[in-house]
Amino acid sequence: MPELPEVEVTRQQLQQYVAGSVIEHVEVAEPKILDSPEMLQRLSEISNIHITSCERRGKLLLIHLENTDILAIHRRMAGNLTLLARNVPNELYTRAVFYLLAPNGAEQKLLYSDPRKFGRIGVYHPGELTQKLALLGPEPLQDDFTDAALKHAIGTANRPIKTILLDQSKIAGIGNIYADESLFIAGIHPERYSHSLTDIEIHTLRMAIATTLTSALKHAGTTFGRHKDLFGSAGRNLDYLQVYQRDGLPCKICGNVIQRIRVAQRSTRFCPECQK
Ligand SMILES: [Zn+2]
Repeated sequence: MPELPEVEVTRQQLQQYVAGSVIEHVEVAEPKILDSPEMLQRLSEISNIHITSCERRGKLLLIHLENTDILAIHRRMAGNLTLLARNVPNELYTRAVFYLLAPNGAEQKLLYSDPRKFGRIGVYHPGELTQKLALLGPEPLQDDFTDAALKHAIGTANRPIKTILLDQSKIAGIGNIYADESLFIAGIHPERYSHSLTDIEIHTLRMAIATTLTSALKHAGTTFGRHKDLFGSAGRNLDYLQVYQRDGLPCKICGNVIQRIRVAQRSTRFCPECQK
């Protein structure tokens, strides 16, 4: 599932290669991927409109249009965006196609492909997303994500720390991969109750989250499942992971066997020696 680094890779490429293009028209092959049935009408109304910029909030892509509407795309489990020339055949599992005209006149198309159809696309008028976005927690790679902000995110909830890391209303953008990786780097057991964390551990965890996400972004994200960038290239971060999908293998630090347990109904990998 694409998490913050994978979605950010896509955002950066959309900003570089798609902002400034005109959406000529949109074709929806699978209405299931729309936020609601009326989005079909709204997508038909964004013909001949410029894309001005591309933003990310948590795992959500926000593509700003010149008429002030926002095209919101959530890739969820397995959605990908691919930029192709118009004359190249569509990919398998293409659910929507945005026909684009680049500023240099190149005729392109942006495909949304998704075998599982869990991803969601919608077009929103100004203000309609405000409430939804306000429900998201802080961005972990922004300067205002301080020790105090993480402490505030943990708040009064006394739950296993991994549960809190996965809660998008507490911190935006972290999923199963980077929750496990961050806790490993911080040396904190995923089942530790959040109220048992000391101030030093909270600081260490905040730094570990930043390190983990920054490293993944540098390697263009983790491709374990389907994640590809806008041009079909896989992320290179898998080789740099410490625990994710490494259960049964020796810990890269201490050599003990990486264990797998379930926390918050999610498979969780950790090193029983390195994480206390
Ligand atoms: Zn270890």
